[in-house]
Amino acid sequence: MSLTLKDGSVFDKNGKLLFLSTEKFIDYIVNGDCCLICGCENQATSFNEEHVLPQWILRNYNLSSKSVTLPNDSPFMYGRYTVPCCISCNLEMSRVFEVPLSELISGGYTEILRYLKNNDPWLIFGWLTLIFLKVHCKDKSFRYILDRSKESPQISDLYEWSDLHHLHCLARSFYTSCTLEKSVFGTLFVLPARTVPPHESFDFLTLYESQSILLRLGDIAFIAVLNDSGAAFSLLKDELKLSAPLSPLQLREILAKVSTINLSLKQRPKFVSKFDAYADRYSISANLPDALEIDDSYSSKYGEILHYCCREYIPFIKDEFGLDVEDDLRNGRWSFLFDENGDFVKNSL
Ligand SMILES: [Zn+2]
Repeated sequence: MSLTLKDGSVFDKNGKLLFLSTEKFIDYIVNGDCCLICGCENQATSFNEEHVLPQWILRNYNLSSKSVTLPNDSPFMYGRYTVPCCISCNLEMSRVFEVPLSELISGGYTEILRYLKNNDPWLIFGWLTLIFLKVHCKDKSFRYILDRSKESPQISDLYEWSDLHHLHCLARSFYTSCTLEKSVFGTLFVLPARTVPPHESFDFLTLYESQSILLRLGDIAFIAVLNDSGAAFSLLKDELKLSAPLSPLQLREILAKVSTINLSLKQRPKFVSKFDAYADRYSISANLPDALEIDDSYSSKYGEILHYCCREYIPFIKDEFGLDVEDDLRNGRWSFLFDENGDFVKNSL
């Protein structure tokens, strides 16, 4: 029989921490240095470092000495981009996610399509959730203001961690073996990607507020919204008539679209963790809103998010093509996906 603590945290009959209350999540994982997955303390067991982006990605895409751009706009080397994790959870993540996914992704877009025809997409969705969570947990290591003569919060101090608690429950579901009801599944697009020299065969961007992520590995692009119960997918699937592999900027435009939808939902899904103490069962479900509607803020938010997603490409577009798209992006008037007739652009930047 499981044991529920006063704060709502739950242990199973074997003493495994099944569920961390929001309070415990912030205390142990966000502010503490406990294992990201099981919550055990650093001194209690053997620890090592879990790479935010797994090592096979760093190897296959030559990223070890390259840098991610942090939210404070400074670079940080992927090779040192790690979070604390116990050895046992690290090995388990490797077995559950990294071994099968590295093999699957090495087969390219055709192979992943074949996989998705025969399997549900939870493995990919869970993996992206885990990467998103690691990115944001790592942000507790970085100052928001780089100038050390000034006082600065850490980047993670700017996050509302209770909003990320649900993602933590999802990300560790491989460890707790909880049942995830279908309604919990967010938006996931797995799209064919076109690599356009001089851009790399890799792209990575997470957006905190909209809990969304873009990860492009070779000719495969994953775009996910982690907490919308599929709302962005439902609203966009008919609009996105795509007939060729997508360029880096087209993929970022889709990320901007799904993110803005998620931030403009009139009513949101509410996620619930349930426990059956006698059967030792744990499940996560979502209470879905009656209607799927976008509020009036969509247009004003969209330009801002589109500009943010594409900002690092703006100088390149200006130098290579003599186009100044800064204002049009900010106003949400520029599209890399569709031309003025609404037709898909097959040879976009
Ligand atoms: Zn652990």
